[in-house]
This record gives sequence, C-alpha cells and structure tokens, in this order.
Amino acid sequence: MKIHFSGADEGVTGSCHLLDTGKMKILIDCGMFQGGDFNEGRNHDEFPFDPKTIDVLLVTHGHLDHIGRIPKLVKEGFGGKIYATKATCDIMPLIWYDAYNIMSYDNRKFGYPILFEETDIAEAQALCHGLDYHEELNLGHGVKAIWKDAGHIFGSAFIEITVDGKKIAFSGDIGNENVPILKDTESLSSDVDFVVCESTYGDRIHESVDVRKSIIANLLKEGAGKGGTIMVPAFSLERTQEFLYELNELSEYDHNLPHIPIFLDSPLAIDATKVYKKYNEYYDDNAKKLYKEGDDFLNFPQLQVTYSKRESQKINHVIGAKMVIAGAGMMNGGRILHHAIRYLSDPHSTLIIVGYQAHGTLGRRLYDGEKRVNVMGEYIDVKCTIKAIGALSAHGDQVKLLKWLGTGKKVKKVFCVHGEGKALTTFADKIKSDLKKEAHIAKYDEVVEV
Ligand SMILES: [Zn+2]
Repeated sequence: MKIHFSGADEGVTGSCHLLDTGKMKILIDCGMFQGGDFNEGRNHDEFPFDPKTIDVLLVTHGHLDHIGRIPKLVKEGFGGKIYATKATCDIMPLIWYDAYNIMSYDNRKFGYPILFEETDIAEAQALCHGLDYHEELNLGHGVKAIWKDAGHIFGSAFIEITVDGKKIAFSGDIGNENVPILKDTESLSSDVDFVVCESTYGDRIHESVDVRKSIIANLLKEGAGKGGTIMVPAFSLERTQEFLYELNELSEYDHNLPHIPIFLDSPLAIDATKVYKKYNEYYDDNAKKLYKEGDDFLNFPQLQVTYSKRESQKINHVIGAKMVIAGAGMMNGGRILHHAIRYLSDPHSTLIIVGYQAHGTLGRRLYDGEKRVNVMGEYIDVKCTIKAIGALSAHGDQVKLLKWLGTGKKVKKVFCVHGEGKALTTFADKIKSDLKKEAHIAKYDEVVEV
C-alpha cells in the first residue's frame, strides 16, 4: 500500500494523508492550512488527488487544521462516508460554520475568496457517521479501522488501520499529560507496524503540568493587579474548556483569587461546551466525579458568556481589570482581534498565549516579540505584557510523543508530519537514537510504499 502525504508536511496545518491500499483510497483528515490569513491561499489549490476517487474519509479530531477543507472536498466531488467519534461528528459542523462566518466577514471586508458555501457544509454533515472509541469499523476489502483516545481534545483519536494484516496508525494530534476532563492518551496496539506521527513539539519540553493551576492563578493575580485586560486567545475547542475547568476549581478553592469578571467571548466555544456536556462518558475520573456530584465544572460565578456581537461589544465598557477568553487561538481571525486592537497597546494589559502559534499568524508574531503589528488593517504598537505557557498546550511535548511511540513495540518506521523545521529534524533524530526505529520526514505530495 501507499501513503500519499497531502498536507501538514513540513508545516503544522492542513493535515491530510491518503492511504491507497490498491483496492481502496482512504483519506485521513482534510484540514485547513493556516498562516497570516485565516483562509490561506494554499487552501484554494487543487488537492494533489482527485476528490471523486476517494472512497472514505476517516477523521481524527475536530480541529480546523484537521477538518477545515472537508466541505471543499465534498464540493469537488467526494461523496463517500465520513467516520469519526460521535463527539467529533457533533463538533465538525460548529467548526465549519464558524470558519464560514469568518471567511464571509473577510470576504465582505477585504474581498478574500470563500473556500466553500453553507450548502457544502450541509452536504458534508450528511455524510458523517459517529463511532464509539474502540468500535471496529469494517470497510471491506480487508480494511478495518479503530479510533483510540488521543487525549488531545474532546472526541480526539488516533486511528489504527489494518490492511491485509499490516497495521498503520495515524496519530492525529497527541495530547499533553494529565489534561483536565480528558482521559489519558491510550497506548498504541502492540502490533502496529507504521506510524504517521505529529511532531508539533518534537523539539520542546513543556513545564510540568502539575503547576498548571498555580500558573493560571498567578496570571490572574498579576494581570488583575495591573488593572488591565487579560486577553486569552484560545482555541474554542479544548483550551477554552480546560481553562474554564481550572478557573472553576480555583474559584472554589483559592480564596485569594481576584474577583474580576471573566468573559467567554466566543459563540463557538459556548456551542462546543454543550458537546462536552452531552458526552460525559468521555470524561476522565475526576470530571466524572464532579459531574455526578452535580458540579457544573464549566461554569462559575465570575464567568459571563457573551454570545451575540452586541454583548461582546459591551465588554469594552467594563472598567477595571477583566479577563477575556476569545478565539481564534492563533489570532488569525475571530473576536480576539477586536480586543487586540484595543488592548495590545495598553501597558496595563496582558496577552497570554496558551496554544501553538503557526508561522505567519498574528499570535506567532507577538510570541516572537514584534513590537508593531498590523491587526485587520490597523497598525498597533505592542505595549502589553506577553506571556506564553507550554503547560497549557494541547499537544504533548517531545517526552510525551516518544513515550507514546514507544508503546508500539513492533513499530518499524515513523513518518514525521505536522511540525516545522527544527521540531521535525530533532524529533526524527530522537526516534532513531532513543527508540531505535526508522524515522522519515514526509514531504508534501510525496508518495511512500509501506
Ligand atoms: Zn488538534
């Protein structure tokens, strides 16, 4: 069989891999490329395969960089079934409509092209079939697939595909250690032969996750002490819910926590939180316990959710210290930009970077220390404090990725994808030296035989 690398090769976005068994063409993920613009030019390029020839699409998780081009795939002739966990099936339309709304806004304001229409979303939605973790999907032609918990975001999985006795795992994204709400990342099956593995933090080691809560408490205290706005650009899926979970616990146990208003300014995050509430069987033990005790761990007295645009705009009029959690996570669109225009130049304000920032995004430019940035056509002098916290990352670090790969005792070769430059080379070297396995850095449009 062949793997045709069709996205997130030598980059962290646009995940898309084609497994061609000779009898069947199976696509694994079909994500959006993200960079300086929300809807990067590359998204409009032709797929390196004919969408009409794809038999089936298997999805690891609901992040935009893994699912964002699915409606385009459907628009261009894909008509097979789309399989994912049940929670991912609920999450995908939320992400697609949110992306559509951002693209429509950019289209009206700047004339940027739109990648797909609402009818394409509806069509894609109709093709989705939800599965439970560990439920074996028999695709015929000697092909079977199962979804195992990746511990990355709600409903996230790595997918193990068996083809005529050979087994290949697609990692999707592998979660950090001890992530609130989610169960731990499962082990690879002992008979996996090949892994297509994400490498986002292949060259980095996060600070210990045990300090996550105290880091958040300190940020809140420091930020509130300055009297400005604490901006948290958060992926509406997962980072936001984890943040709320930690804040909920802090609000109950830390009596020194400043009583400042905390705004969840993201309709997508509010909708995604409903999916969390629907599938409590996905919770880890601690979240299950809280759920049974009747503690709504995604809500607490200081929290105010602002769904409509009008409610969102009112946040500006709240005087004094406040925290605003808003998308998009890499600041390449969404409501966070309106807050950025207002508060990046305020020395009393703080920007907290909690997720990976892809090359070219506003989040990355701020993370890299740029002092003057263009936000929606306005030049802003950056005077606020900027902090980045690896412990809040949704992705496992190098140690976690190696530990996970090490659970696949018979793995012969790892294909490294979903990483940038040094992360890929460092990670591939580590796989060879520490795990004594072959490692190959996949190139875009490369085809390998396995
Ligand atoms: Zn992800």
